[in-house]
Amino acid sequence: MAIILDGKATAQKIRSEITMNVSQLTAEGIQPGLAVILVGENPASRVYVRMKEKACRDVGIFSDEYNLHTDTEEKDLLSLINRLNRDTRIHGILVQLPLPKHINEAKVLEAISPDKDVDGFHPYNVGHLVLGKPTFQPCTPYGIMVLMKEYGIELSGKEVVVVGRSNIVGKPVAFMCLQQHATVTICHTRTVDLPAKIGMADVLIAAIGRPEVIRGEWVKEGAVVIDVGVNRISEKKLVGDVEFEKAALRASHITPVPGGVGPMTITMLLQNTLQSAKMSQAAKQTKQEDPS
Ligand code: NAP
Repeated sequence: MAIILDGKATAQKIRSEITMNVSQLTAEGIQPGLAVILVGENPASRVYVRMKEKACRDVGIFSDEYNLHTDTEEKDLLSLINRLNRDTRIHGILVQLPLPKHINEAKVLEAISPDKDVDGFHPYNVGHLVLGKPTFQPCTPYGIMVLMKEYGIELSGKEVVVVGRSNIVGKPVAFMCLQQHATVTICHTRTVDLPAKIGMADVLIAAIGRPEVIRGEWVKEGAVVIDVGVNRISEKKLVGDVEFEKAALRASHITPVPGGVGPMTITMLLQNTLQSAKMSQAAKQTKQEDPS
């Protein structure tokens, strides 16, 4: 039976470190601050926003919530972002996706100052990620990398297969694994013979969003299985993209759903907000030392 990669316990450990750092920074006069913007009434988005705010409160990060009406015009959203870009109390700006259809998502994400882009979705930060330069890393892939590191999973020289090519999970996690010297294959709906590709994987990262489409018997003996998918199959039951029970008999390590990747995602948002506040403190100090 595989070792369970416990995202909940790892997230809790990191959150206590974040709490200590936030309290120290606050004592030095900079309380990290996150602005969360929600446009419309999407129930899932409401739940995510509430979870993010609670997580901020728990670690001492100041959070400022903006609940905008579904009919909010794009220009009004852009001007709110501009105002928050200049607000020195705010170190991170998060616009909850998806946005209503009449708003251009790319334009909104690009309006966020790259210095406050704690979701890591701005093209400037995406570019840095691809180039392997320091940047805000998108929270879900960042959480996956931290979780693997916590369990001592080494990627150098390994075959990593990522299923899913979204901008928020599949693509960035593939680049992060490449940066750790893995050989990376990215699969999607046009991939021919997915079971054969999955059978090659020393590390399988599934970010699909279809309940248990990856069959346990496709998983290579001894592989590490990271299941990002969150699929509700009944009122009370969530499952991942991988058949957990069968895959766990073959894998060396596996993430549960829930309790695997999920808890890590919000934790990395807190981490990025803390990092942004630290960067703004460093910039302030440099300015004081050299006002020219
Ligand atoms: P997405 O934007 O819908 O992308 C899904 C990807 O999966 C696409 O690239 C799609 O290929 C591919 N795909 C779909 N069906 C497939 C199949 N049968 N075989 C191979 N590839 C297939 O989804 P996402 O935003 O990346 O999210 C993926 C899952 O992760 C969802 O369940 C989401 O809820 C979950 N998620 C969890 C967290 C967390 O914190 N736990 C965070 C983010 C997302 P094409 O590009 O060819 O269409």
